[in-house]
Amino acid sequence: MTAPFPQFRKIPVPFLGASLGLSAPREARLPALYGAPENAGEIISGHRPLVVGNGAVGGAIALHMARLQPAALFLTDPKSFKEESILTQPIDPVSIGKPKAAEIGRRCKAISPNTEVHVFCGSIQELDLAELAGTTALFLATDNIAAEVEASQIALRLGIPVIHAAVHGATTVAQVRVFDIGREPDSPCPACLLNAEEITQMNEQATFPCDPGSVTAASARDVQTAPTVSLPNLCSLAADLAVMQFLKLALPFGTPVGNTMLEFCGHTGKSWLTPTGRNPNCSCDHLAWQIRASSRPNLADATLGDLVRDFVVDPGSGATFQIAAFDWLDRTACPTGHHESPVRRFVPELQPIEFPPCPECQAPVTSPPLARRNAVFSESLGNAIDTPLRELGINSNPPWIRFDFADRTALLLSA
Ligand SMILES: [Zn+2]
Ligand SMILES: [Zn+2]
Repeated sequence: MTAPFPQFRKIPVPFLGASLGLSAPREARLPALYGAPENAGEIISGHRPLVVGNGAVGGAIALHMARLQPAALFLTDPKSFKEESILTQPIDPVSIGKPKAAEIGRRCKAISPNTEVHVFCGSIQELDLAELAGTTALFLATDNIAAEVEASQIALRLGIPVIHAAVHGATTVAQVRVFDIGREPDSPCPACLLNAEEITQMNEQATFPCDPGSVTAASARDVQTAPTVSLPNLCSLAADLAVMQFLKLALPFGTPVGNTMLEFCGHTGKSWLTPTGRNPNCSCDHLAWQIRASSRPNLADATLGDLVRDFVVDPGSGATFQIAAFDWLDRTACPTGHHESPVRRFVPELQPIEFPPCPECQAPVTSPPLARRNAVFSESLGNAIDTPLRELGINSNPPWIRFDFADRTALLLSA
């Protein structure tokens, strides 16, 4: 069976690095940073950052992060390197034509063979949320405003900080915004700072509701954005400052950087550090999800009622369920409308399903509008809420199940 969701691809240990035994310990160059805890190296080792956008700014961020040797690095970018990329991006001519995420990922893995490097050559909108649940910080370095809004919403749900790096070529400004999501309850998110013009621009690029998985792969890939027109050194400066702010937030040391904007202007040689605030009219909902790894060895053996009770919620009080890569199919019907059959089980998402033809007219049956849904409300489940998922069509351990209760959203990850 092909994976219903596009997944991260894990980069193997490069032959050259492995054969030479290259894995210089980070401590050989990591200074004892004033004010930072003694176990700074250990703290960095625990990190699993996600870098959204792997071009002039994000590519440089990823390469710096690889040199710091975190536990894992997740890279995502839907684009490939073009001939002009060489003018601003940390590549040489052999990279032209190759997908940015895979190419930067390969370099990161060569730099730090002990770091798990996962790459996804697509848009962040296409990703399986459960894979992102293990990430610890989100670097945002994309010109695509829709991707920024999506990344904001993901960070808000997962409760992870965002480090947003950008440049403005003509004014030689490098800018890094740090959003301390997860620790600061009133933290702004990148979408909070979008102005009316940017929101209009986003709506012109594509329509993206703030909901991962709701956008089809094709529409996410079709988004056209202008290339970054900037000096190469300004792009790498933004990347350098982004990694600095990440370290200051993660370790921490020096002046606090949570919920601030750092700007450097090449024209004046000045830099500014200013606080940022929450926008009450933000297009994203600032509700963190309750994320929990299940203690059950296989979620398919449980009933949805059991899983709801694991969250100390009464199944009778109502919830909406969504199971990774599955739809709920309530019934099928003959197109003439003279025959309906109940199905009432989960079926693989995005896949056509074959059913026996209508017993009366032999026409192929279909699922009527709204009979096949990505999310199902507990009342529509009836007795199925007390039936093991395995008997409802979930034939293997699902990576995650989402529960929308009246007061919160919970994401249960499989063990
Ligand atoms: Zn916001
Ligand atoms: Zn019929």
